[in-house]
Amino acid sequence: MIFSKDMFFTTKFIDSDPIYVKLEKAGYIKQISSGIYAYLELFNKLLSNICNEIGNIFKEYNISEVKMPLLQDANLWKNSGRFDIYGKGLFVTGENAEYVLSATSEEAIIKLIDLLGIEEKQLPFCVYQISERLRNELRTAYGLFRTKTFTLADCYAIVNNTNDLAHYTHIFKEIFHKIGVKFNLALHEAIHLGHNQTISIWCNSKLNQSHPIVCKNCNNSFRNKSLITKCPICNSANVARAVGAEIGDIATIQQLISTKKINNTHIVTMGIGLTRLIQLIAEQKVYKNGFDWDYWYAPYKAYIVASNERRNEAQKIYDILNSKIDALFDNRAKSIATKLIDADLIGCPYKIILGNNTCIDTVEIKRSNKMLKLKSEQVLKYILDNR
Ligand SMILES: [Zn+2]
Repeated sequence: MIFSKDMFFTTKFIDSDPIYVKLEKAGYIKQISSGIYAYLELFNKLLSNICNEIGNIFKEYNISEVKMPLLQDANLWKNSGRFDIYGKGLFVTGENAEYVLSATSEEAIIKLIDLLGIEEKQLPFCVYQISERLRNELRTAYGLFRTKTFTLADCYAIVNNTNDLAHYTHIFKEIFHKIGVKFNLALHEAIHLGHNQTISIWCNSKLNQSHPIVCKNCNNSFRNKSLITKCPICNSANVARAVGAEIGDIATIQQLISTKKINNTHIVTMGIGLTRLIQLIAEQKVYKNGFDWDYWYAPYKAYIVASNERRNEAQKIYDILNSKIDALFDNRAKSIATKLIDADLIGCPYKIILGNNTCIDTVEIKRSNKMLKLKSEQVLKYILDNR
């Protein structure tokens, strides 16, 4: 991408700005109305990099991808009982309120396996989807954390045995390890939205949205409404409430499901709120000048700036880099110093600088605080070797 005018809409942020304000100032998102955000170019790229990687992990486990309809027959939800459980949290639409705009797809998945004629011997049957969802969040707040529209990665497994929960928990742990976000798992007793046996995935966060009880002895955490004074796993009394935010959960639905060909079996559902996850990653990756994203999901890997005299040379380097990686050539009529402020703010891992203090065919390449000089033709290889 060639950055030739102010298309990234950046403003310097200050330390005390909440993380979602920092994301707005860095040109990632824009709040359109309460709880409703537009994702700008930078956010879209970051989101799609993370979605692709999560999709790859599901595929490694032979879980196939589906896209369930956002618009669903309200009767599906009435029959499952979740129409009333969700209540006002559900968007209901149609002339006679005959549809809901779904936040999750349990009912539609069960209907799907019925229509496909999946038999008991074919279990476990597992699919995932990653798409935009809607929920009538009545208390929108905290930027991307509590919104009416969001991106969800959800996975549904029809299983014979609830012990399979451990297998799916393992997949989710792998996803969070890959993403590199520091996370914890909390077991809960609370039955909500018709789920039982739920594990939430949470991380420490200034958002102060979730207060799991953490055992300092065995490191397990619990999400209980009542105060636990003793760890149910190791019996230690060294327990305390943490301050965090939830990213997702894994649950088995309380009631057994049956279709024409399957009797009384379980459904395990797993969900990760990806837009809130990105905000939590941002919280862990922000520093005073901008974002320090990991290379693999950074929206742009390299940011190229040049003095007026060296623009043509920079264009050539850009063409080479951009054929292999996402590169951004800042061609605006501004000083190199001003452009580098934007490069830091946006969070491009590599900055390639063609200033007047280096000779022709030589560039400065900078990552975090490390700077070195390279021949122009070595730049691509250097970046690919040091991803
Ligand atoms: Zn313990």
